[in-house]
Amino acid sequence: SAVLYIVPTPIGNLDDMTNRSLQVLKDVDLIACEDTRHSARLLDHYSIKTSLTALHDHNERGKADWLVQQLIEGKNIALISDAGTPLISDPGYHLVNKVRDAGYRVVPLPGACAAITALSASGLPTDDFRFIGFLPAKSSQRKKMLQSLSSETTTLIFYESPHRILDCLKDVLEILSDRRVVLARELTKTFETFLSDTVSELIRCLENDSNQQRGEMVLMVKGAEKQAVTTELGDLDSMIQSSLKYL
Ligand code: SAM
Repeated sequence: SAVLYIVPTPIGNLDDMTNRSLQVLKDVDLIACEDTRHSARLLDHYSIKTSLTALHDHNERGKADWLVQQLIEGKNIALISDAGTPLISDPGYHLVNKVRDAGYRVVPLPGACAAITALSASGLPTDDFRFIGFLPAKSSQRKKMLQSLSSETTTLIFYESPHRILDCLKDVLEILSDRRVVLARELTKTFETFLSDTVSELIRCLENDSNQQRGEMVLMVKGAEKQAVTTELGDLDSMIQSSLKYL
């Protein structure tokens, strides 16, 4: 029976498209994408002629029903987004849910994702991390969200837009304090940059060089220091030490 493929696309460098992804995009009957004009350029680049249909945040629920109908009619579908892995801060959740409910296979292909690409070269702990995606645009809500993450000991990964990055960093400084942060900009592109510093130094750097505020970016924040679990053991230790004195 028909299949829905989840196909990642490049986050900048067009060569970051796997052979398997290209083959799937050629072979399917229909490609669902966020913006048909944007994705037409990608397909043109690879001479892929498969037809495109738009599935975005505003039409996803209705469009998902229509796409399930296409699967029922035996058509294989690929889902792509403007860049990176679909469903990761991108549309597709309702579609995948409905396709699974309807009993059809969903086959994911591995590929580009800004969060994982950034994390892998950040120098921050990678054994345990939390992907948050975009923080709220309003400072009051952003601070509330950051507050809820303040005792999280895992590396935190955010997507942020260039015109909000400074305000966001100022809120991070206020709520999460002056931790180590890494800003990964323009990944896989000509001006790829990693800035690794304390929040206050990074703010200074961005204020002094507005070029560092440009482009696409992933912000990673080191987790909170793990609370020492040694308190009770420490108490025990001092009790033993003081008892020893009397022996
Ligand atoms: N689905 C995508 C993925 O798998 O990474 C993310 C889509 S989200 C709408 C777009 C955000 O991802 C950007 O605002 C930026 O935070 C991040 N991003 C995408 N491409 C990037 C790149 N080349 N360098 C740094 N960040 C990038």
